[in-house]
Amino acid sequence: MPGAVEAYGIDAVDLGEVLRYLGYSGQKLDGELAARIDEVVARCLSVGRPRGVTRVFGVEGSSERDGVPVLRLSGTSLELAGHSIASHLDGAVAVGVLVVTAGMGVEAELRRLSLTDRVAQVIFDAAGSALVERAANAAEASLVAQAADRGLYCGTRFSPGYGDLPLETQPVLLAALDAGRLLGITLSDSLLMSPTKSVTAVAGFFERPPTDARPGCSACYAREFCLLRRSGRTCRG
Ligand code: SF4
Repeated sequence: MPGAVEAYGIDAVDLGEVLRYLGYSGQKLDGELAARIDEVVARCLSVGRPRGVTRVFGVEGSSERDGVPVLRLSGTSLELAGHSIASHLDGAVAVGVLVVTAGMGVEAELRRLSLTDRVAQVIFDAAGSALVERAANAAEASLVAQAADRGLYCGTRFSPGYGDLPLETQPVLLAALDAGRLLGITLSDSLLMSPTKSVTAVAGFFERPPTDARPGCSACYAREFCLLRRSGRTCRG
């Protein structure tokens, strides 16, 4: 059964992250540029519509294909191939799958700025990346809560293209989440998503807290969206 669309109420992005995407590493910004960045980030937040879909699949088993480990999931043709994802999901009894997008409005504005204002386009692109990463944090927090509901512990997310998890995973992953119909996400021949500010990922559900568990709520990137933390619980057992 397809997951439901979740809308994430995101009214700010981490300006430090926007600056990192812009290539800054601690240099002082002049007032005019700082004001420009604030203005473009605000524009991005106003046209953004961050939404996502999550689903959870049981682990059916694993095998090897041409010397590469392949994890099979129940009730879907989605397979996760590669040594890095095998290590990341080692011991998982289920896998949460997520897709998020900053929305068509961000894509349209990026296209418009590419024709009218290249400086604003670069800043807007960085703001869109920061926005969709926050949406991915929110979707991951949703998976953390779904794992807890099952008495399980959710590991951190891992995206196609990381390590040796192939980008070719994208079409089946998007289909498993019905992302085309629910979120309007399409793939190019080179497997790039449109809207470009979209993210897919998987996270393992474990019977014990995984070794790469989050460092603690105060340093956790999902904390602002975390339902467990709000209810006084923690994902770390
Ligand atoms: S905020 Fe705390 S409970 Fe929530 S996912 Fe992060 S570490 Fe776990």
